[in-house]
Amino acid sequence: MQRVLLVVIITLFSSLNIYSQAPKKPNASEIYESIKKLNFLGSVLYVAAHPDDENTRLISYMSNHVKARTAYLSLTRGDGGQNLIGPEIRELLGVIRTQELLTARQIDGGEQRFTRANDFGYSKHPDETLEIWNKEEVLSDVVLAIRQFQPDIIINRFDHRSPGSTHGHHTSSAMLSVEAFDITSKNTAYPNQLQQTGLWQPKRLFFNTSWWFYGSQEKFDKADKSNLLEFDTGEFYVSSGLSNTEIAALSRSQHKSQGFGNTGTRGSQMEYIELIKGDIPKDKTNLFEGIDTTWNRVNGGKAIGNILQQVEANYNFTNPSASIPELVRAYQLIQNLEDLHWRNYKTKEIKNIIYACAGLYLEATSETSQATPSETVKLNLEVINRSSYPIKLETIECNKTSISKQIALTENNGFEFQEILEIPSNQKPTTPYWLTEKGTLGMYQVSNEALIGKPETPRVFEVSFKLLFNNTPITFTKSVIYKTNDPVKGEVYKPFEIIPEASVKIPEKVIIFENNQAKDISVIVRSGRDNLNGSLSLNYPENWQVSPAKQDIQITNKGEEKTVFFRVTPPENQHEGHLIPVMTVNGKNYSKELIEIEYEHIPYQTVLLPSETKIVRLDIQKRGKNIGYIVGAGDVVPESLKQIGYNVSLLKPEDINPETLSQFDAVVVGIRAYNTLETIKFKQQQLFDFVFNGGNMIVQYNTSRGLKVNELAPYKLELSRDRVTDEFAKVKFLAPTHPILNTPNKITQEDFKGWTQERGLYFPNSWGKEFTPILSMHDKGESAKKGSLLVAKYGEGYYMYTGLSFFREFPEGVPGAYRLFANMLSIGK
Ligand SMILES: [Zn+2]
Repeated sequence: MQRVLLVVIITLFSSLNIYSQAPKKPNASEIYESIKKLNFLGSVLYVAAHPDDENTRLISYMSNHVKARTAYLSLTRGDGGQNLIGPEIRELLGVIRTQELLTARQIDGGEQRFTRANDFGYSKHPDETLEIWNKEEVLSDVVLAIRQFQPDIIINRFDHRSPGSTHGHHTSSAMLSVEAFDITSKNTAYPNQLQQTGLWQPKRLFFNTSWWFYGSQEKFDKADKSNLLEFDTGEFYVSSGLSNTEIAALSRSQHKSQGFGNTGTRGSQMEYIELIKGDIPKDKTNLFEGIDTTWNRVNGGKAIGNILQQVEANYNFTNPSASIPELVRAYQLIQNLEDLHWRNYKTKEIKNIIYACAGLYLEATSETSQATPSETVKLNLEVINRSSYPIKLETIECNKTSISKQIALTENNGFEFQEILEIPSNQKPTTPYWLTEKGTLGMYQVSNEALIGKPETPRVFEVSFKLLFNNTPITFTKSVIYKTNDPVKGEVYKPFEIIPEASVKIPEKVIIFENNQAKDISVIVRSGRDNLNGSLSLNYPENWQVSPAKQDIQITNKGEEKTVFFRVTPPENQHEGHLIPVMTVNGKNYSKELIEIEYEHIPYQTVLLPSETKIVRLDIQKRGKNIGYIVGAGDVVPESLKQIGYNVSLLKPEDINPETLSQFDAVVVGIRAYNTLETIKFKQQQLFDFVFNGGNMIVQYNTSRGLKVNELAPYKLELSRDRVTDEFAKVKFLAPTHPILNTPNKITQEDFKGWTQERGLYFPNSWGKEFTPILSMHDKGESAKKGSLLVAKYGEGYYMYTGLSFFREFPEGVPGAYRLFANMLSIGK
């Protein structure tokens, strides 16, 4: 709730003061812009696939210049991307990117929606995408978004007519949007939705094209543009002192996990949209042509429009509170509108404007940031009217009880109250709603239909302040938040969260047993309250042994952690399973891990996920002991190699010299090292000499663009963009008798089972005759790709290049990936 309110309170120019969760405090110019927006009744829905696909220039332009209600529907939350700012990947990255989108929208003035589709990783074609997503469910969510948001205009980021030319998620987003356009007004389409929303027919659908989609600027200049609308999105907003393009850059820069920091530009900036459905406007700059975007479009709206036009015309920048009487009159009329959609949306808008005009400040802060079920929490409430308009505080509602106050809020006299918030014993903990149930590779599972599409879990604890403006009651509801003073940062806001009384975790998510020796595994229990007493045990697979069976745990303080160890003994033969810690407190079992996500640019988040560690008893032989690892873009391969018993030394380019190299049996080059290490080119010859003298060198994937060396290998080797994204793709052995498939581990089809996300990427497609290609594989409908693993003898040693995704498979504990890599390290030894 908090979030939705914040987005609406200030739809504009709020870029100047972004701080996670802090309430917005609009100035006189910002209030004026909100009044103009209040008088515009039209909306735009922008549709794409991922966080960061959206064109913030266009969203900001629609929201801040056109004054349309504007939203971005991102089909996914971006779980499949990379994280350039921290260790979170997959669902936790999706949580970060969700918040990055929300922060971006606060800046550019848009709203944010999602579907249940999961970003499962790269997909070459929409056919594949729509097979892995549940197409019907995603289409249903797009239809729901349109019916709920009621856009006049839909703009797709991608072209639905060019499957295969971009990420399959991208094309799918456009295809689903086009398909939805034709059915949202039909009551035969997803009739179950009609209990919570009505039918809706958008007027036009566009594709947000640019010269890029035409191949070149010249081609675009020559192209027929009769079906295109154009806007200059370089508008300068005097009221904020920013160009639209500067706001767009600030918004885009919130995609920090993707490294999308963006420097603003100034001056003219053309944007083009191509009509896909609906009629083409005569005025090629007016996408709302033929749509009444005044108050007249709503039955009963004319009188409201008359009042609010006057409010806009007579607005006093030095005294916004002078507008309150007329705003309150319009507010009353809005309450009588029959059209629920406009009534609800415009009520929110006008309440925020009245609030800002009166300089009202209403806040409910908790004395603690985290509480557990059954706890009572002290709340501090602040109420102040900073205008001369007479307002009365009638009641405050907390814990569903109304407390009579009857206080006249005279100008600039603040009031503070204390209340006690009782957390129900059955209160669910705070966590992203889409991660509470087990989904599929392509879909989140969301049983509560009311939550589908929402950007985040609504906050449950709220305080309502019922105020009287003259005799008109207006209730403002505020989510309970936590506020503290940081000696360095000053005022810091955090969400108020409910956490379980106990949470558990095993720090390592995959533990490899390379032989039958037992390992001591640490388990951490964290207490959500004072004086926690319970017992901790581990669930483990058959044939494994764990001791002790149980350990008593006592923790005195809330927030404190305790670490204990269990001895885990693997079976004789290859086997895998999971360890699940279970903390039992008064007969209740807790086996979830509490994960905190804390970054400066997004609100603090807690996520509860099942605590589960994969344990693998590997049947693995290996030769050689010491490995030098040249760190590239970053991966966990070194930790994984340590787990199977290698000594791994991390190397930077400056550490590479013949003497250091002579200690190693093999050198492994981390992912994209030749893309990211500027000075590695000076060491390439020394690495080749190391191989010539009997060392093994394994180079993992690089991209062909931006290579820092001319010679990747001692022989001819050319990279391509070939990749095999289907992790189940059949693997054919091209050189079945080659030692790399036979010693010391016999590699079979079994070793290519259980791979995740993909087989590999950026395979070479051309190589010297010295190389032996070992494996062949391909995605559906494509030719065989033979460059995933190439081996060449060079002098006394071996040079190997591989695009296989070991960096993804190791952290998932895929046995075959370890066994094959051990053979690569062992070759010739
Ligand atoms: Zn994308």
